[in-house]
Amino acid sequence: MGFLYRADMKIVFASSEIVPFASTGGLGDVAAALSEELARQGEDVIRMMPLYADIDREAFGLKKCDVELHIPLGHAWYFGTVWKNEFNGVTTYFVHSEEFFGRHGIYGHGGHDYADNFERFLFFQKAVVKLIDEWTLQPDVVHCNDWQTGLIPMLLYHGFDGHFRNGKERTLFTIHNLAHQGWAPSEKFYMTQLPPRCYTMQTLEFYGEINPLKGGLVGASAVNAVSPNYAQEIQTARFGCRLDGVLRERSKVLHGILNGIDYSRWNPETDPDISANYSTDDLSGKVECKRALQEAAGFQPASKVPLLGIITRLVPQKGIDLLVETIEQIIETGAQLVILGAGDARYERACSEWAERWPGQVCSWIEFSSKKAHRIEAGVDLFLMPSEFEPCGLNQLYSMRYGTIPLVHAVGGLEDSVVDYAKRGSTGFKFHDYTASAFFQCLDRALKVYPNGARWKPLMKRAMQQDLSVVHMAKDYIALYETITQ
Ligand code: ADP
Repeated sequence: MGFLYRADMKIVFASSEIVPFASTGGLGDVAAALSEELARQGEDVIRMMPLYADIDREAFGLKKCDVELHIPLGHAWYFGTVWKNEFNGVTTYFVHSEEFFGRHGIYGHGGHDYADNFERFLFFQKAVVKLIDEWTLQPDVVHCNDWQTGLIPMLLYHGFDGHFRNGKERTLFTIHNLAHQGWAPSEKFYMTQLPPRCYTMQTLEFYGEINPLKGGLVGASAVNAVSPNYAQEIQTARFGCRLDGVLRERSKVLHGILNGIDYSRWNPETDPDISANYSTDDLSGKVECKRALQEAAGFQPASKVPLLGIITRLVPQKGIDLLVETIEQIIETGAQLVILGAGDARYERACSEWAERWPGQVCSWIEFSSKKAHRIEAGVDLFLMPSEFEPCGLNQLYSMRYGTIPLVHAVGGLEDSVVDYAKRGSTGFKFHDYTASAFFQCLDRALKVYPNGARWKPLMKRAMQQDLSVVHMAKDYIALYETITQ
């Protein structure tokens, strides 16, 4: 048969979010899709994440492990438990502490971050190191994701309890979003029990505070961003969130790997949440999905009226200001708009007001709903992503798979994954200047093409045929693990 066997790598994959247990956005989706695909491709993957109070232990069949955690944060010791489950072929260990995770929410509640997030995730990170020792896991790579896991490389090396550990594990730090850095006041540094040389300009110190994300950037064997373009952009002052200098210094080990999507969750041919399934060969199901969405949104079910969609955290990063500035112009085009999102109160209010003012044209669902997200992806004609910056973005990838045309600001992963209508092999529409007028001109351009089925249909089919699978992404990560373990 000619199989070539090679030794599998053991990967400990640490993340503060993993779908379906806990997620606030792209990190949870990608952490799940990547780790599961790595396992499918033969790697030995062990996931570790916090056990938040909102995770239903019974529904997920979590079993308590025979281990007790006693973790010091400075002079105080904290007790924790570890829980386990097998899901989609991967073992996940959940780290619990009543003190830190026995409350609602992942990072906060009622629109505010918890003041002790540094301690909460420090406890988690120390627990990861402790469990690697306790169970003699000897991973080839510890894969860390975003600031909540940024201290792990240093904790592996220096130890989590003030005792030098001399960890030889190789580490990869993935930047899903550079804007969230987990800053904490310098007075908390003693809790890490890291040596003073870990709190300098070259290490964790950043403008007089602790920057856990920077810990990942300077401490890991290699770093990657979730798209090649974002990996370049973050080395510039415009997108570097003040860390561009640090990133330029790490440029030799800084990579970009485009996120892929999990076709078992996002596939119009099999999606159980949408009104009718469809494929490139038979798009009739999409017509039905549009009709059903228009009905659910309280709109006239007019097949020829362009239906626009947005699914997002309602925060400045996502370009909601451009929408605020152009909403009246959008209404004048006659298009219908479905918004699904939650976030900043001022944006939530604005979206609700539009829905009240133009009930036949705007529908705003202010909530987080996976089901509705699938129905919108399947039902709309155009998906709007005017993000100011976007590390990768997933919804433009989901959109293309569903024959929904993405309209995007040409930044980060949006630039990498969408080809503008004016170009060969186009899959969507792009605008370059981050201004309301550039955004609206782009929308106007798309709406002029939309009525022309002879142009729009091939565009849909091209978008649907893109191979955006997680299989490629996982292969790229394996190649990167191999370079850092050599
Ligand atoms: P980010 O991670 O910055 O939020 P991404 O585009 O990478 O942005 O990922 C966002 C993910 O979260 C997508 O899967 C999107 O569908 C989902 N999402 C965001 N807001 C909502 C919502 N209100 N309801 C359902 N899904 C949402």
